[in-house]
Amino acid sequence: MYPTCTELYLDANATTPTLPSALEAACAAMREQFGNPSSSHCTGLRAKALLETVRSDARQVLGAGKARLFFTSGATEGIQTAVLSTLSAHLNASPEIRAKRQLLLYGASEHKVVPEALKHWNQVLHANCELLAIPVDSDGRHDLAFLAAHVDRAVLVCTMAVNNETGVISDLDAIETILQQHPECLWLVDGVQALGKLALNLSRTRIDYFAVSGHKLYAPKGIGMLYARQSAPFTALTAGGGQEQGQRSGTENMAGIAGFGAVLAELNRPKGELCSIDDLQRYRDALITALCAAFPGIVFNSPIQYCVPTTLNFSVPGFASKELLDLFDAAGMRVSSGSACGSGKAMRSYVLDAMGVAPWRSLSAVRLSFGRAWHDEDCDLACQRIAQAGNALRDSCLYAEPSTRQDHFDGVLLFKHDGACCWLIVDHIAKQCAIIDPVDELCERLERYVSCQGFSVVAVLDTHAHADHVSARERLLRTLASNWLQPQEATDGLGWPLSTAQRALNDGNSYPVISIGHFNLVQIPLPGHTDDSVGYVLFKDSDEILQVFVGDTVLIGGIGRSNFASSSVTELFHSLRRLAAVAGTNTLLCPAHDYFHQFATTLQVECRDNPLMAQALAPTPSAETLFVAAKTQLDTSICDEKGATLMCGALRHEVDPNISGMEFHSAQLRSFLHQHPHAILVDVREPYECALGATLEQLPSCVTRTVPLSRLDQMLPEWLHHPEQPLVFFCRSGNRSLLAARALHRLGHPLVYHLRGGLALHH
Ligand code: PLP
Repeated sequence: MYPTCTELYLDANATTPTLPSALEAACAAMREQFGNPSSSHCTGLRAKALLETVRSDARQVLGAGKARLFFTSGATEGIQTAVLSTLSAHLNASPEIRAKRQLLLYGASEHKVVPEALKHWNQVLHANCELLAIPVDSDGRHDLAFLAAHVDRAVLVCTMAVNNETGVISDLDAIETILQQHPECLWLVDGVQALGKLALNLSRTRIDYFAVSGHKLYAPKGIGMLYARQSAPFTALTAGGGQEQGQRSGTENMAGIAGFGAVLAELNRPKGELCSIDDLQRYRDALITALCAAFPGIVFNSPIQYCVPTTLNFSVPGFASKELLDLFDAAGMRVSSGSACGSGKAMRSYVLDAMGVAPWRSLSAVRLSFGRAWHDEDCDLACQRIAQAGNALRDSCLYAEPSTRQDHFDGVLLFKHDGACCWLIVDHIAKQCAIIDPVDELCERLERYVSCQGFSVVAVLDTHAHADHVSARERLLRTLASNWLQPQEATDGLGWPLSTAQRALNDGNSYPVISIGHFNLVQIPLPGHTDDSVGYVLFKDSDEILQVFVGDTVLIGGIGRSNFASSSVTELFHSLRRLAAVAGTNTLLCPAHDYFHQFATTLQVECRDNPLMAQALAPTPSAETLFVAAKTQLDTSICDEKGATLMCGALRHEVDPNISGMEFHSAQLRSFLHQHPHAILVDVREPYECALGATLEQLPSCVTRTVPLSRLDQMLPEWLHHPEQPLVFFCRSGNRSLLAARALHRLGHPLVYHLRGGLALHH
């Protein structure tokens, strides 16, 4: 166990904690200096004086000269005001200018507030301008030739000063040079991530609008400022009491202003609460060294020489952003994933995509950001934790050179990529394994795991020639060459050894069988989806079937598509019946795809949820005719694409959103466990997270089991055999535990629950 008691916040680009002096100033503004700056009595005058002092400090920090500079609720508001001002002026411009200038240009890597504000106001004001993204190059910097080619038709150019995901500093000088020759074109700069990190002297530039937000720099949330050049058009976003000289009506957020003021005062105070830019560079160097040591192969996604020192964006080969985020979170480090995660599919970072970064890097990106309230101790602790995180990954045999620690897992492991499932059957004692349906993206991880554990590979198998990906079998034959049990063995096109023993199954037929230590794997033909489709029936020691790997013949909530050239709906019908005859309707079926995190299914559950499956297995003479007609019809309406993944079957993919009764809050969990002292608590985090992180305190009578989602299938038969045994899943945030609880619920377990908000909300 690696001790990680204190939380280390490394997500400063999202927001920052409030600086102690800012907190004190904000409290004082609410407690003593609570006046309304518009009031003419002494209390009001004191508030007004405070407000003007902060404005004057801000004027200095921004180098704002005599320009408009007023308080807003944040950068989002400032940007709306700038866009509204620009478009209002444009609508009042002469018809010639309006005809000539129609473009709203914005950097392809802007924070989404910019394109969204442009779209919104363009629509609301019926301005009829065209939005056009300025591409960025592989360094994340604007394509200046593109800008130069389009600027004479532009109403507005929006270029952020520093990118929030990558830390890349825009070349504002070069952009200014281009804009100098186009005085009619306005220029908006989103300065959120630049404030406090770059020296600013706005009045010396041609920038028309510059928006900042206080909470990115240790001030409270809800305060920001907009700088607008004196000559730039201006339209107020709010009208009312005429505050801020009519530029922004509404009683001022004095607590926010006071807090922001305290931070601005600190910016220029040597050896105060904030460190220097030189210190930041030192911290960045130390973090890079620690990251490179902990994660060999790490790739940084933005060029250090063009970045503010406070942002590092990196990818680790073989790991998705979400996995790395979970790892760092378990190590007590709050970082941000560079990409958002949707259901079943990770969404890539549009910023990295705009830079043309390789897809795997975009999917794996992590952003680590810190700020000027950092000190040497924070950096030292971060470096220590990074090393611990790297060690935890190594110890799980998932990363870098083999660890001395061995995983004692015995059974079936799931490796998943983008909805595709790859299975590893492991006999821990015999040190043998077999791999089913490998995909290229998972190979590195499979290779590491197999070689780190010193397993002999009995077989690498496919359930059919997949239409949506090329099997990685050939690659594994090469990369795991030294791990092959029988390297010279002849196999068929799916990797199945040609000469094997036979084993009789329940349908009265004999089928070829291989052993992987104490597991037996029997191949049964399941043509229909494709003519080469097979299933692999897994036995452990006894005659009991553990599960069947069914490829795309049965999907969770669907049946494999049968409209390929080599498909046959009639054969599919007979294959489904063969599967039922061999395995029965209660055996766990593991498909080659799991688009919605449901893990596994059974024929019984499929028959319950899918009338077509019930039709296939109906004991009636007309079953075949009816099934063939219905399935043929269904195949005509298959939607091929879901994102980039070819959907391999006709799916009914609604996920039951009704989870009420399955979720516990922290307090409910305690009282439930008192009432059900024999409930099993199931930690579904990955082993490397458990090794690093906190866990649930438990009642003496409760048992906690660690069953990561990648090993969940292994436990399903046992849990489903004991429906009287309550199961409570938990994880870091409540997302994975919800998936596990839903899957068990779908498979018919009546007493499954999960901890809402996970360990993050559990106190
Ligand atoms: N621009 C950038 C670059 C940002 O990072 C953010 C915040 O994430 C914003 C604009 C929006 O700032 P706020 O939500 O404080 O208005």
